[in-house]
Amino acid sequence: MSQDRPTLAQLQESGLKRLMVACDRCGRLGVYRMPRLVAEHGTETELSDLLAILTADCPARSATRAAVVCGAVCPDLPDLFGRDVA
Ligand SMILES: [Zn+2]
Repeated sequence: MSQDRPTLAQLQESGLKRLMVACDRCGRLGVYRMPRLVAEHGTETELSDLLAILTADCPARSATRAAVVCGAVCPDLPDLFGRDVA
């Protein structure tokens, strides 16, 4: 499977049970259960949009320079999609 912008539905179909979100800029590390993410955000929410929602309070994201955003990634996903999709 290779998608530029995977949705929650595609992640769930890939067998993912939990989504790990880590940011080495702010130290964020969270593990989210897929059923809850789907329930809260819907199956058609794209991963990139989900990350933006989950990291909305990231100190790096709120920095004054617009180019500086949260560096959150999903460490588990490269194994599923063959590359970093975040
Ligand atoms: Zn961050």
